[in-house]
Amino acid sequence: MTVTVAVTGATGRMGEEVLAAAADRDDVAVAFAVSRSPGAEVAGVAVEDAADLSALLAEHDPDVLVDFTGPASCVEYAAACADAGVAFVSGTTGLNQGCFDALREAAGEVPVLYASNFSRGIAALRRAVREAVPALDGYDIELTETHHNAKRDAPSGTALTLLDDIDEVRGDSPRVHGREGEAPRSEGEVGVHARRAGDIAGEHEVLLAGNHESLSLTHRAGSRGVFAAGALDAATWLSGRDAGWYDFTEVLE
Ligand code: NAD
Repeated sequence: MTVTVAVTGATGRMGEEVLAAAADRDDVAVAFAVSRSPGAEVAGVAVEDAADLSALLAEHDPDVLVDFTGPASCVEYAAACADAGVAFVSGTTGLNQGCFDALREAAGEVPVLYASNFSRGIAALRRAVREAVPALDGYDIELTETHHNAKRDAPSGTALTLLDDIDEVRGDSPRVHGREGEAPRSEGEVGVHARRAGDIAGEHEVLLAGNHESLSLTHRAGSRGVFAAGALDAATWLSGRDAGWYDFTEVLE
């Protein structure tokens, strides 16, 4: 069965990856793509004006919309999908609680799947972290993420997800973002470090260190294609489901 998808942020890094990945798959067809800078053609798809999204949803009636844009547009597009009865997949990061509340509201009308990271390797890293942290009780934890120099939000959405995973198995831990000057480590804190350089697609390291030993759990994305593939897997999985809130781990399971 072919699932029809609409793609937002089509001229952005991830939008372009999603369109390129869709062009290589038989189970996905692109209904239309939008950007706030329309006019270009990406992977053979003419990019239309994001301001016309509601009209385009009504005209093409895609099965799923795939969104990698910014927090404000993510919320706006989720509401448009809820109105149009179109399933919504988003990997946009930097969302605050109000944004998540708005996505959950949309999930009352249509299926919504949100993931701060669409890679299978990160899903495996999350499982490894949830196992390692309780096994290494009392060890110091430092989380470092590295991304390309145009990334807007820090720490990354994936880092926040990993921090939530750590809290889930160890209880809430104070988060210390970077250190400067007289800044000794206090017991139980989690150090969080965001590096921005070059065109790095995404790296996350969770370091657990005790006396005389340390364990480093690291994931590196070699290309954004891995996130695009995961998002399209999520879109095909989500198509035709009931309204509600879904998680990428459900797709993998
Ligand atoms: P980008 O800056 O290259 O592209 C963003 C696109 O969204 C651009 O086309 C921009 O015009 C559009 N956009 C931004 N704000 C908008 C608005 N208010 N209205 C309309 N269009 C808007 O960024 P990117 O690298 O493609 O990343 C996009 C998002 O996806 C970021 O939040 C990033 O962190 C996230 N991301 C998530 C994953 C994942 O697996 N979940 C992977 C990579 C990136």
